[in-house]
Amino acid sequence: MITTLDTQTWAETGTRLLSSSLDRLGDRDLDAPCALPGWTRRHLLAHVASNAEAIGRLLEWARTGVETPMYSSPEQRAADIETGSARPDLREWVRASATTLTAAMDALPAEAWSARVVTAQGRIVPASETPWMRARETCIHAVDLDAGTTFAELPDAFLRHLLDEVAAWRSSRGGGPAVVLVTPETRHDIAGDGAPQHVELPLAAAAAWIVGRGPGPDQLALPRWL
Ligand code: ZN
Repeated sequence: MITTLDTQTWAETGTRLLSSSLDRLGDRDLDAPCALPGWTRRHLLAHVASNAEAIGRLLEWARTGVETPMYSSPEQRAADIETGSARPDLREWVRASATTLTAAMDALPAEAWSARVVTAQGRIVPASETPWMRARETCIHAVDLDAGTTFAELPDAFLRHLLDEVAAWRSSRGGGPAVVLVTPETRHDIAGDGAPQHVELPLAAAAAWIVGRGPGPDQLALPRWL
């Protein structure tokens, strides 16, 4: 059973890894591409900072009952990333937005965690889902920053939860090959086309592969995740 405390801890771990990766980069390095197609590291950092503010809006919604979506529109979200990537205080924004979000989570009244909010993908979730959403962002984007952080540094329990979630998402979505994904500690049957392909990987490599960040078996391509 995963608790809100677990997911909050993973979000903090991701923030710490992202922050130490960021410390290894000079300002010129920020202009270079990150691991996500079409984005520089500046875009990625602006996205992570905007995401902290967007999740903060969901907490505000949960606390007050006043509907405040993560982003006013997909266009606004993209425009904020573009504008944010040029901010001279980008590093500080990344850190301050994360700190503000942590404080908002710590201050959220117990009953507000069960209030329903809507994610950027339009899913209706309890506010207690938001630390997990943030953990996914900070942990995976710490790797995407492409400054030395790897999936192997992410907490095992986070990786197992990520596998559970993305395997279920892929199964319900379809469009990819059927896969039996086995690690030393997990097994996931992913529904899809054809006879199930047996894939065995270490936990971190399996998690990286299932979210489209790592090499998998030859000629076994998965459709895009999110
Ligand atoms: Zn993201």
